[in-house]
Amino acid sequence: MPVVGTSERPLRVAIIGSGPAGFFTAQALQKQKDRPGLRVRVDMIERLHTPFGLVRHGVAPDHQKIKAVTAAYEKIAAHEDFRFLGGIHFGEDVGLDDLKAAYHQIVFCCGAETDRRLGVEGEDLTGSHPATEFVAWFNGHPDYHAHRFDLSCERAVVVGVGNVAVDVARILLRDPDELARTDIADHALAALRESRIREVVLLGRRGPAQAAFTNPEAKELGQLAGVCTSTREDEMALDSATLESLGPEGPDKTLARKLVILESFVGNSPSAGERSLALRFLVSPTRLTGDGEGRVNGVDLVHNTLLLKSGRLSARPTDRTSHLETGLVFRSVGYRGIPLTGVPFRDDWGIIPNVKGRVVEQVDGPVCPGLYVAGWIKRGPSGVIGTNKPDAVETVQAMLADLDADTLHSPAGEQDDALLGHLSSRDVRPTSYRDWRRLDAEELRRGEAGGRPRVKFVSDTEIREFLESD
Ligand code: NAP
Repeated sequence: MPVVGTSERPLRVAIIGSGPAGFFTAQALQKQKDRPGLRVRVDMIERLHTPFGLVRHGVAPDHQKIKAVTAAYEKIAAHEDFRFLGGIHFGEDVGLDDLKAAYHQIVFCCGAETDRRLGVEGEDLTGSHPATEFVAWFNGHPDYHAHRFDLSCERAVVVGVGNVAVDVARILLRDPDELARTDIADHALAALRESRIREVVLLGRRGPAQAAFTNPEAKELGQLAGVCTSTREDEMALDSATLESLGPEGPDKTLARKLVILESFVGNSPSAGERSLALRFLVSPTRLTGDGEGRVNGVDLVHNTLLLKSGRLSARPTDRTSHLETGLVFRSVGYRGIPLTGVPFRDDWGIIPNVKGRVVEQVDGPVCPGLYVAGWIKRGPSGVIGTNKPDAVETVQAMLADLDADTLHSPAGEQDDALLGHLSSRDVRPTSYRDWRRLDAEELRRGEAGGRPRVKFVSDTEIREFLESD
């Protein structure tokens, strides 16, 4: 029998998930210049009918340039040995054993699909939402098109000061006429036009020097039309623990720039008609208060001080407290992965345990042959889209070393249609990349009429009806 990885017997790889990590994994497999004879067939299996994961459903609609990365993914998808199988739910339509029966290697690139919990009383009151759901909603994710967010109060509070919190604040405060020129979901645009939110408060538990958002995103907050962005002088002063951690050299260039940006907001107050965005530091919610009928009506805060321990600055509560009234809270304290049936999972980190991309049964435990990870489900929800590229390359290096060592699955049916046969026996018809191209063309066509990049399909039913038409 020919060896695996040749034209006669290609290496068969299933990639679960079609976001950046999935595409960069496919690309790394395709770009093996040092192995000219290597033949790899990739099937990318995606729960949704559309590809691109967080680029489509996570990147904010007013950040269209970031979405341009999909042009590179188009090229990867055009490869003769690449197939997209959309609308296939791992754990429901296919299980791990079905994949092992059809592929030599399986790579999980399914990201971090849910939110981290805040762990305070009142977190589940009506009007308190994970930011992940709001982001998915305004980006037209089909799981969230029927969600409703009550934007009838004047102040919204966002817990966390990462880039997702910043995205949420911008979308809440930006002029809807500006958003109308983006690919924001129509249901979100309609709701934001009716929004009565005048003020958004972002809560950072540590100081400005520890804010997780990046500099371009911070700078953009000062440039929103009709929005006054402010910081407080007392919260901007660098505390002794921060100064100690920075050492005699002080902040590096990037941090110094961030501090200059944040300093420029000190003391700003809105003029008549302006909306406002307040960036607060050294405060943590201790409780979300309710109105007695299950709705959030405020946030109890404790003021923090910082403690430097083992090189990490952590927030320690003081005895100073305060209260913020609000009817809308977004918890934006990071994403986490969800467990997949039959696949090891490290619950405390929200990732699949792995060593450089090879899945292990548990930390320091044995490797699970033929199973790999890349992206957020491998390393946790950090970095920008490009971070997934070297991450995927590392995983592919492990995969190819295992190909050389012959530690692969031995699929029973090594034909292209092994998985398709299984799906068809369960009456599941996957969406192809060709189907996606039709959806894409239709979205672009709908967008053109309104001077928008695209108008997205936002429900599975609508997608299926369109694909079944003509
Ligand atoms: P993130 O960058 O990890 O930020 C999470 C924020 O939540 C931090 O400020 C963190 O504070 C805070 N936090 C965590 N636990 C908390 C708690 N119990 N109480 C109060 N605050 C708490 O996560 P993210 O904003 O979800 O972003 C995820 C990744 O996507 C990041 O790498 C981000 O840069 C990236 N992203 C990039 C863009 C872009 O490039 N434009 C847009 C969106 C997302 P501590 O630092 O104190 O832990």
